[in-house]
Amino acid sequence: MKRIAILGSTGSIGTQALNVIRRHPDRFSVEVLCAGHNADLLIAQALEFDPNAVAIADESQYPKVQEALAPHDIKVFAGQSSIIDLMSMESIDLVLAAIVGFAGLRPTLAAIEHHKPVALANKETMVVAGAIVTEAALRHRVPILPVDSEHSAIFQSLVGEGARWQDDEGRWHTTVDKILLTASGGAFRGRSREQLQQASLADALKHPNWSMGRKVTIDSATLMNKGLEVIEARWLFDVPADKIQVLVHPQSVVHSMVQYIDGSIKAQLGVPTMETPIQYSFSFPERLESHLPRLDFVRYPQLTFEAPDTDTFRCLPLAYEADRQGGNMPCIMNAANEVAVQQFIEGRISFLQIADFVERQMQQAPFIKNPSLDDLFHTDADLRQRLA
Ligand code: NDP
Repeated sequence: MKRIAILGSTGSIGTQALNVIRRHPDRFSVEVLCAGHNADLLIAQALEFDPNAVAIADESQYPKVQEALAPHDIKVFAGQSSIIDLMSMESIDLVLAAIVGFAGLRPTLAAIEHHKPVALANKETMVVAGAIVTEAALRHRVPILPVDSEHSAIFQSLVGEGARWQDDEGRWHTTVDKILLTASGGAFRGRSREQLQQASLADALKHPNWSMGRKVTIDSATLMNKGLEVIEARWLFDVPADKIQVLVHPQSVVHSMVQYIDGSIKAQLGVPTMETPIQYSFSFPERLESHLPRLDFVRYPQLTFEAPDTDTFRCLPLAYEADRQGGNMPCIMNAANEVAVQQFIEGRISFLQIADFVERQMQQAPFIKNPSLDDLFHTDADLRQRLA
């Protein structure tokens, strides 16, 4: 029985993770549930899954959650710091990091520092602090298991390969030639800049293949999501970004691929559902049965691939640039993007202005070549404060 802490249980990934646990009650149980504001859903989840503890970041919701769970012997905490404190619980076997955005960084690092294996959905953590997070994971010998469908596909394509070795002179070699990271293309694939002048929030939220939280859905429409994933993959698999090629694959059936030095390509395919990669991250190294629909190739007679339109969707090249510069630049880019997406949701900037906004902040914010964790927190906070 693996006892799981779900950070972001009320979100799209969190609720799908609970579906996986519901289907495998003999393998997984819920030890901790953490949410941001949604007290009603958190209470309903706690009553169904009977965790040891729950935490809600929004302290004003504490009395409501406390009152509802008091008769049920479930400990209730509130505030951002309580989520971090809970990561020290002995009884947690695995932490699912599924809070959205920069807010996920501190709890994820706390989980690693307390030697908890992490199933990572929160890609922003790796984008902002990939060097610090991977170093901490190595130091504490903690596995980071990818949840993002593309990264799970890459991981599954790497399993069984002696992907890295050291020669007698200490040089590292790898059999990985490159990573082929697939992208659905988001809501606006094939549109020109001209056509996107009036793109509305409702249009941006209509993702063709995936049902996800708002932020990641808008990131998919701008292709920033793919940019974040390039940086996430670069840290998770230790492959430089110039060896990660983005391929637009509108059917979202090939979830990503690895090309090896002999030219062979391995891929992971399946119907577009996050429950498969979530389940694999929970069960690894085992593969568990699933009753989700199977991929029927007859229903997909054509699997197509094309290069991304980086003139229209400028967030993708901006992410490559942020990674090339390194230091706190991915953190600047991420904070600027989170603010820009929020401003787009509030109708304060247009869809095309998201990339302009991010680019401007990347040019203006102070650059730090070797940032400490504190530097990254300051970079993020300063930028949000300046733009508030
Ligand atoms: P959602 O917006 O659906 O959910 C976000 C979750 O985080 C909610 O539970 C929310 O709580 C919680 N949350 C937000 N802010 C805080 C905070 N400050 N402290 C504690 N909890 C907080 O997002 P998704 O589930 O779509 O995405 C989660 C992460 O997974 C993102 O990083 C995303 O990029 C990544 N991801 C998502 C995929 C998907 O299919 N959805 C696919 C691959 C990756 P509440 O709602 O109660 O406020």
